Amino acid sequence: MAKHDYDLFVIGAGSGGVRAARIAAGYGAKVAIAEEYRVGGTCVIRGCVPKKLLVYASRFADEFDDAHGFGWKLDDPSFDWPTLVAAKNKEIARLEKIYATNLNRIGVTIIEERAQVAGPNAVTLARSGATISAGKILIATGGKPSLGNPIPGLEHVITSNEAFDLKRLPKRVIVAGGGYIAVEFAGIFSGLGVDTTLIYRGDKILRGFDEDLRDALTEAYLKRGIRIVTGHIFTRIEKTADGLIGHLDDGSTLEADEIMFAIGRNPNTAGLGLEAVGVELGWNGHVVVDETSRTSVETIFAVGDVTDRMALTPVAIREGHAFADSEFGSKPWSPDYTDVPTAVFSTPEIGTVGLPEHLAAERCEDLHIYKAAFRPLKATVSGRDEKMVMKLIVDGKSDKVLGCHVLGEGAAEIVQLGALALRLGATKADFDRTMGLHPTAAEELVTMREKWVAPTEAAG
Ligand code: FAD
Ligand code: NDP
Repeated sequence: MAKHDYDLFVIGAGSGGVRAARIAAGYGAKVAIAEEYRVGGTCVIRGCVPKKLLVYASRFADEFDDAHGFGWKLDDPSFDWPTLVAAKNKEIARLEKIYATNLNRIGVTIIEERAQVAGPNAVTLARSGATISAGKILIATGGKPSLGNPIPGLEHVITSNEAFDLKRLPKRVIVAGGGYIAVEFAGIFSGLGVDTTLIYRGDKILRGFDEDLRDALTEAYLKRGIRIVTGHIFTRIEKTADGLIGHLDDGSTLEADEIMFAIGRNPNTAGLGLEAVGVELGWNGHVVVDETSRTSVETIFAVGDVTDRMALTPVAIREGHAFADSEFGSKPWSPDYTDVPTAVFSTPEIGTVGLPEHLAAERCEDLHIYKAAFRPLKATVSGRDEKMVMKLIVDGKSDKVLGCHVLGEGAAEIVQLGALALRLGATKADFDRTMGLHPTAAEELVTMREKWVAPTEAAG
């Protein structure tokens, strides 16, 4: 008789959990996965995928505008939000089904309810109350939107969870936050014709990104009519007959139909029973793990957003895969967190890999910067007043490219391959030797010859 009901019990059927379950089952392990909401998790159901669909929808506005310069005559195009939401829902339902089918096909048991840890080898199910034993438990419960410190009227705000399924598109929206989600949703709403304000507590959006990209995106957003209020936070939200009034910490107010908070996400560990079994939690409730994703309890592991590593889908997937290979396939390995490419799906878009200039400057004495800001070919005819920005950060000593940063159309697609170059240890000379592909914007990355010289240095 088997010692446990399952070899592996996974809590959370998102990016990391699903990958781990499928790979472990592929090695012949008996696996169950519990999901309290919808199979697919944040990325598929209310994250990357629906977000990108909304981004596509919002960018048609640019296409309609740009088309005029190319000779197209368009009658006043109009947009219908419910049609978009229905199409988006149809697609994510299709993906959800594929995820479930793939799990079933490889023999993973899907348990559609909330689970919590009851011991080093035990899990209880919230609805049925059943206790299940497992050789190993994987916590892959992801995160959820943070609302920050409690303020009066917080019940009136929405988060990204609700933004995907609003009954109607607001006329005026305020997005609070200056990170990925706030910046992406400000771009989405603005593109869809919503009067959009972004309010951020710091002095410039996208803290941590390369300064040139932050500046260029700020300029582009302002040109597109997105209001950016910096240095402030909300202290109270008031509901009126006309909508919402957000009260700021300096006593001023902002009005909107919807206020969306995108001020970070917290790991989903509340009520999971982890502390009781001795699993160490970190500063914001995340599960503390070692490089093999093992927690302080020998039989319990954690991957993805519930840990404090990189909250990105490909990272969660790789952590899940590494865990399953290591624990069930006798192929131990750990993900490499260097040079992870990332994008902000703003319009214009950001793609970035490697070190931003300010971090590279801390590590390298002789830094060579190559940058270009230019009007892309399409904009010469469309008349769009927006620049594309490309930047390479190079270690002057080894000639290695340390960072590749792009803002503009296709930035994410370009940087995915830039990441390959960095992974292979490409030098600036390798970039220079690479033949350009003409006419593209990306060819700029292999044709930048002149080192950028800071204005003060140049003057001296
Ligand atoms: P999740 O995908 O969050 O899955 C966790 C699952 O666990 C959920 O389905 C949840 O319901 C379930 N669960 C939680 N507690 C329990 C329990 N006790 N019992 C049973 N089930 C439970 N990343 C990118 O790389 N690119 C993007 O463009 C991108 N866009 C994003 C846009 C938004 C709006 C958001 C919110 C996130 C975005 N992300 C993006 C981040 C990405 O979605 C996450 O990094 C990724 O989903 C993490 O995967 P995970 O497996 O750790 O957790
Ligand atoms: P981020 O961490 O990216 O940004 C959070 C923002 O909220 C920051 O600007 C932060 O300010 C601000 N903030 C934090 N706390 C408060 C507060 N109490 N009051 C006011 N402002 C506050 O989180 P997101 O929610 O945007 O996204 C979560 C994660 O999901 C991302 O970090 C990313 O890993 C992932 N994601 C990835 C995407 C992609 O790959 N395209 C898209 C969406 C999400 P400050 O900068 O000053 O700390």
